[in-house]
Amino acid sequence: MRFAELFGREPDGRWAAPGRVNLIGEHVDYAQGLCLPFALAQRTVVEVAARTDGRLRLRSLSETDGWEGTLDEVGPGSPAGWAGYVAGVLWALREAGHEVGGIDLLVTDTVPLGAGLSSSAALESAAALAVDDLFGLGLGGSPTGRGTLVAASQRAENEVVGAATGGMDQAASMLSTAGHALLLDTRDNSTRQVPFAPRDVGLGLLVIDTRVRHSHADGQYGARRASVEKAAATLGLPSLRDASLADVESLEGEAQRRARHVVTEIARVRETVELLDAGRLADIGPLLDASHASLAGDYEVSCAELDLACAAAREAGAAGARMTGGGFGGSAIALVPLDRADAVADAVRAAFADAGYREPEIRPAEPSEGATRLS
Ligand code: ADP
Ligand code: MG
Repeated sequence: MRFAELFGREPDGRWAAPGRVNLIGEHVDYAQGLCLPFALAQRTVVEVAARTDGRLRLRSLSETDGWEGTLDEVGPGSPAGWAGYVAGVLWALREAGHEVGGIDLLVTDTVPLGAGLSSSAALESAAALAVDDLFGLGLGGSPTGRGTLVAASQRAENEVVGAATGGMDQAASMLSTAGHALLLDTRDNSTRQVPFAPRDVGLGLLVIDTRVRHSHADGQYGARRASVEKAAATLGLPSLRDASLADVESLEGEAQRRARHVVTEIARVRETVELLDAGRLADIGPLLDASHASLAGDYEVSCAELDLACAAAREAGAAGARMTGGGFGGSAIALVPLDRADAVADAVRAAFADAGYREPEIRPAEPSEGATRLS
């Protein structure tokens, strides 16, 4: 199915935006913490043509259903399904005072859906950059303008799709540069590029998708969020961003363990950034391991498959490994010597087979550039 066959004309251009993984800084975005995602080489590509009549015609090669309607029909909960990610971006830009018209859009390539690599933000970011270009909004050319596109994409996902996510995925997809990770401070949404080019020092990254997603994940996410907010309130702080380890010691039981994860994880992000800034990428492995231990022990958001993926990777020579994303399934990342990458992947697959788990999907990851126009 080609654009011209669907819409009876050629597109005005093609835009692409990447998926992401979070290197470190997990479950701290709702505590005003720091995270350090990087963009992947896997990208979502949209072909788009502008329309002057305010109509939207949206199709995707990954989905059987398309959507057709007008800008005026877009709002919270509408349209339902995948089209909400795209239509929602136009709606949010309009809500922010930007003049946008209708579009014909076809999604031709995609970041794997639902693998924890943020196909949703990739789709939003590709659409946002296309709309910015086609309607001359002038936002895509500067980090500040791109920040406005990030905010619109996040609002689309929160309000039109109805998914309560933070802004990390959209920031990573829109603002990343090749050979860097993106330090995102979720207190004020400020960002900084941190050098991160594992290949230059003979290392590589593997993303290990366990292909499991345990059914209690959403409820557990809400519970963690609530306990972190409660811990901050107990300490009389606006968030755990400002908490010290001494504050953590003053808490008790479960609240103490949850808060300890947040406080130590934010410290680990700072240490990781210090090492990367100092050209000591090869030394970050223990921080990845410690992050996993904290997420599994204190925060209790790991699961047997994620623990096994990390343990098997380490045993086969990974410098460090941790679950990434929300947990209870999804993906882990491992930092590996390039000449051991295949052996590590094989060892993880073998360990999964031995345990009777479904075969994991293992992909190499390369810190890549953010959203861009292709043609
Ligand atoms: P993730 O972002 O981790 O991949 P999400 O549940 O946040 O998982 O987003 C996945 C959803 O995003 C899909 O179910 C679909 O609605 C939408 N989506 C992502 N990529 C595409 C695509 N190429 N075509 C259509 N919809 C897509
Ligand atoms: Mg998503």
